[in-house]
Amino acid sequence: SEQEIVTDVVIIGAGPVGLFAVFELGLLDIKCHLIDILDKPGGQCAELYPEKPIYDIPAFPEISGQELTDNLLKQAEPFGPTYHYNRMVNELEKQDKGDYLVKTDAGETFRCKVVVIAAGGGSFQPKRPPVPNIEDYENTSVFYAVRKMDDFRDHDIVIVGGGDSALDWTLNLAPLAKSLTLVHRRDSFRAHTDSVNKMRALVEEGKINFELGQIASLEGENGQISAVNIKNADGEKSLPATRLMPFFGLTMKLGPVANWGLNLHENLIEVDTEKFATSEEGIFAIGDINYYPGKLKLILSGFHEAALMAQAAKKIIHPDEKVVFQYTTSSTKLQKKLGVK
Ligand code: FAD
Repeated sequence: SEQEIVTDVVIIGAGPVGLFAVFELGLLDIKCHLIDILDKPGGQCAELYPEKPIYDIPAFPEISGQELTDNLLKQAEPFGPTYHYNRMVNELEKQDKGDYLVKTDAGETFRCKVVVIAAGGGSFQPKRPPVPNIEDYENTSVFYAVRKMDDFRDHDIVIVGGGDSALDWTLNLAPLAKSLTLVHRRDSFRAHTDSVNKMRALVEEGKINFELGQIASLEGENGQISAVNIKNADGEKSLPATRLMPFFGLTMKLGPVANWGLNLHENLIEVDTEKFATSEEGIFAIGDINYYPGKLKLILSGFHEAALMAQAAKKIIHPDEKVVFQYTTSSTKLQKKLGVK
């Protein structure tokens, strides 16, 4: 296990609401680390509808999910948040002095005074393909995300799928693989045309292989695969493989949030509407993951919740500092923090 990372606040989830919380906390001199199981910021906006226009963000008559995400990142930038992607928060432990330890499935431990759960519709988790015993190889030789490219160097890699993740990783891993085979059930792809063209060019040059088919079974032992057997129109074919990456899309699951002893209301975290605090002192819940009477699962509600949560978090993190209400338009103090003065 690695060293403990010490920070004021850990935000679980880098969706639009988690991102805006960085800004509201930053104005109050509070530093954040954000953790998301996705490989990018933006939550549902970036994963489910990056190119669709949203029409009900105040003062943006029309903005796409990705543009909204990019703007939120830019707005948070002056406060220097640290983003940790491709990892799931699976444990939350209260310590004696009121600190929390937040642990991820990548082995990190964060120590903080306040935890902000901005987990939205739950954690995006990869769909497991229907292949017998695939669980036995997960995270040792079968991966649904790339944490370190070097773990794939000089391997016989098989990638399965036809979407952007499958194509992006095919292109990124091709230069360092011993061999790379992309498997898809059809010869048409959902991924961007540009990526598809680049992939076809690599096949043409003999740098990678493409196989039509579906994975049928795996061979291997002790967590290490040695071959991927695929079914296609001609029957079965065995591909030598020491790394397999299936990309079958994502589902949202509440995940570990349910195990943290917080009061829940139909799988959502109960909060008050003054502070958006949960039943545990120092743990807040904002955005789609929370419940209170009248809750609307809209981005604008999450933004408001982030602002009030930040005021309450301030009292826990800097109990001796008085918070003076200020406008960003007129406060030189706030403008200095934003780097515009
Ligand atoms: P999310 O966007 O769900 O982000 C939560 C993040 O937390 C996710 O990335 C997830 O992976 C991560 N996470 C959860 N648990 C863990 C964990 N244990 N460890 C690590 N990471 C974790 N809203 C509007 O206001 N206007 C619209 O027009 C609109 N249109 C929509 C259209 C579609 C198709 C969909 C699906 C939703 C739409 N919404 C719209 C809803 C809006 O997207 C949500 O309200 C918003 O995304 C909620 O933001 P959030 O930050 O609370 O959560």
